[in-house]
Amino acid sequence: MTDLHRKTLVELAAGLRARRFSSVELVRAYLERIEASQATLNAFISITGESALRDAQAADAALAAGAAGPLTGVPIAHKDLFCTQGVRTSCGSRMLDNFVSPYDATVVAKLKAAGAITLGKTNMDEFAMGSSNETSYYGPVRNPWNTGMVPGGSSGGSAAAVAARLAPVATATDTGGSIRQPAALCGVTGIKPTYGRVSRYGMVAFASSLDQGGVLATTAMDAALVLREMAGFDSNDSTSVDVPVPDYVAGLEQPLAGLKVGLLKEFFDKGLERRTEKCIREALRVYESLGAVLSEVSLPSLPLSVPVYYVVAPAECSSNLARFDGVRFGHRCANPRDLQDLYRRSRGEGFGAEVKRRIMTGTYVLSAGYFDAYYLKAQRVRQLINADFIRAFQSVDVLMGPTTPTPAFAIGAKTSDPVTMYLNDIYTIGANLAGLPAASIPCGFVEGLPVGLQIVGPHFSEARVLAVAHAFQRDTDWHSRVPRDYA
Ligand code: GLN
Repeated sequence: MTDLHRKTLVELAAGLRARRFSSVELVRAYLERIEASQATLNAFISITGESALRDAQAADAALAAGAAGPLTGVPIAHKDLFCTQGVRTSCGSRMLDNFVSPYDATVVAKLKAAGAITLGKTNMDEFAMGSSNETSYYGPVRNPWNTGMVPGGSSGGSAAAVAARLAPVATATDTGGSIRQPAALCGVTGIKPTYGRVSRYGMVAFASSLDQGGVLATTAMDAALVLREMAGFDSNDSTSVDVPVPDYVAGLEQPLAGLKVGLLKEFFDKGLERRTEKCIREALRVYESLGAVLSEVSLPSLPLSVPVYYVVAPAECSSNLARFDGVRFGHRCANPRDLQDLYRRSRGEGFGAEVKRRIMTGTYVLSAGYFDAYYLKAQRVRQLINADFIRAFQSVDVLMGPTTPTPAFAIGAKTSDPVTMYLNDIYTIGANLAGLPAASIPCGFVEGLPVGLQIVGPHFSEARVLAVAHAFQRDTDWHSRVPRDYA
């Protein structure tokens, strides 16, 4: 059974239930693929092979007894910022290199309860700050389509793992694009739900008003299945919203005839690489042939997303990361002279350069003399962006555009210029600022590198976004392409 990795999660779950193969067999096959890829891709920070095989045995027993949940026996990987009880949660940082969480994040607990088996924890940019997975303390992840290229970030490990079929699905988080951008660059399907749809309890915080957990998978159908299990109200997260979770899988087969698609005018700008644009335009033609009605929509405040984000996100991060003080948990420097020395050196040694840059920027914009000029103004513009989206959704059902301006770039190409790196998220950040659900789906290739189409919907319209993505995947096969070395 060497071709199990070619199946989708839905097929794997059905195969397990029909007892065509066992969970132990399946988990073993994925663990072998992970081990074989580590030296090249570096997609994982921790591999939990022993517990995965133990859980797989229990899953096989449950399947035999006919007591299976929706995901019983199916392997999954978690981005290493979801707390996992008894397993290190590093968040890609030296600061948490020795941190073993005493509890499971709600997302992890829910997926476990549905029967999923954890293969390991995936590599990521340090504290989810980055667009290329190059800020990880554990080294960069490589793109399975071309190992000289970045996989995107910050969920680069999760995206590379799914693209190389090291796991059928992986969890991820998106603060400014970290699910959609790596999904686009690795040629997989990713969805960032509405802010508040998925519990943030047990997710190491970066920017609390923007962070949202979601899924990376090969198909929209697989993403729908996993999202259905991980979404929902959680009293442990005060920003979790108590709105019933629809059956995203049952809602997939919606006809597209008459669907009103708004093309984000501001996204088809001069920064959009020509061949990437061509792929996007071809994908839009597929939607037209499926009955969608396309029109151009302008969101005039949207070009301000990047500057607004790089005030709001660092501000929140400087506050959230204050908890890493060398006292309670995380890295502690050796032989501190006094309390100040303990703080300074623990933080100085524990955090990498990008995290320090964000903490300094955030502290600056929140300081007494600059608060009004930067933070308050950014919050105001954020409301304008939000209002632009709300207005747009009065006339269209979904918005579409590119996920990124270019396909994957070379490792090292942008590390010396943070602002160039930040501009990678120019098309993704708007949805975070407005708290909207958004997906990226594979829609073509430029010189062997995948291109992603972005679909943004109104608040709590995940079912619609997934159905729109699914309709495209019924008609095209971009999502089923596998990098040559991992086929
Ligand atoms: N690339 C963006 C940043 O560096 C977004 C990261 C994210 O979504 N976690 O902040």
